[in-house]
Amino acid sequence: MAEQATILLVDDTRTNIQLLAGCLKHDYRLKIAMNGQRCLELAQHSPYPDLILLDVIMPEMDGYEVCRQLKENPNTKHIPIIFVTGRDSDEDEEFGLKLGAVDYIAKPIRPAIVTARVSTQIKLKHQSDQLRNMALHDQLTKLYNRHFLIESAASKLAYVDRHGNDLSVLMIDIDFFKHINDQFGHHVGDRVLKAIADILKTGNRREDVVARFGGEEFVVLLEHCSLKSAVEKAESLRAQIEALEPMGIAVTASFGVAQLMKHEQTFVELLSRADAAVYQAKDLGRNRVVAAEDEYNVLHLDKKTV
Ligand code: GH3
Ligand code: MG
Ligand code: MG
Repeated sequence: MAEQATILLVDDTRTNIQLLAGCLKHDYRLKIAMNGQRCLELAQHSPYPDLILLDVIMPEMDGYEVCRQLKENPNTKHIPIIFVTGRDSDEDEEFGLKLGAVDYIAKPIRPAIVTARVSTQIKLKHQSDQLRNMALHDQLTKLYNRHFLIESAASKLAYVDRHGNDLSVLMIDIDFFKHINDQFGHHVGDRVLKAIADILKTGNRREDVVARFGGEEFVVLLEHCSLKSAVEKAESLRAQIEALEPMGIAVTASFGVAQLMKHEQTFVELLSRADAAVYQAKDLGRNRVVAAEDEYNVLHLDKKTV
């Protein structure tokens, strides 16, 4: 069975919370907030709500203001909101919907209406999550895709610009992968790609981004990671891939490692140096890690562009 959806109930009156919880507690995991500020906090913590039922009239921060702030925050803007309120004029309803709420339930609540409307919104949320998930992941390996990598790299570079932390990248290219396809067939090649992706996936921190960049090329973006640590990580992954032998097939990969330099403005510059280092690794005999230690590697860029 699919994981239970989480609903955040927000109301300053305990009896209203109890009424809503009574309708929903058997089918959903519930989180409770009794003021707007608490709602904003809980919306950003795991388990993330799939839906928020939001009272309008509350002291300090009303539901409209809470809705506005949730919609402004990239972390919470995708969470659907249903207003549950005693204000039932057409103008109120229109105002709430314009703020981005998906529905409006009038108090006093009728349990059958609450469960039906909630169920509809949970189904829609599930579908939109699936679509977003597909748009950002590679379907074969389930890693992030190039599109997601480039988007998240842009925000990580902006963060480095403000905080000056380290940022490193690994570029990984499977060695002689064409031979594997030629010898064993494309289907087996796919399984090898998946097996290598699984190695890359394990042992990462939550903030690291592991992506399939192209056919048999992968990129790992490592936040708060120096060149030295990134090289160690690459060496460990290289050894794991070499030891893997999926379906008894010997497979290795070449690694290029680069750390963002002070003057570098874009992800393309950083990735270009990692890519040049991969080419050096190939030239030096494959199945090895090469670090782009300075701008020297950038000079080899003519071999390939990203
Ligand atoms: P090198 O060591 O120089 O990297 O050699 P290589 O054979 O790995 O490199 P090349 O770029 O010549 O070939 C990459 C191959 O990857 C060719 C392509 O058919 C294969 N490939 C790309 N995407 C997929 C995929 O999704 N599945 C499979 N099975 N093969 C793929
Ligand atoms: Mg390649
Ligand atoms: Mg290759």
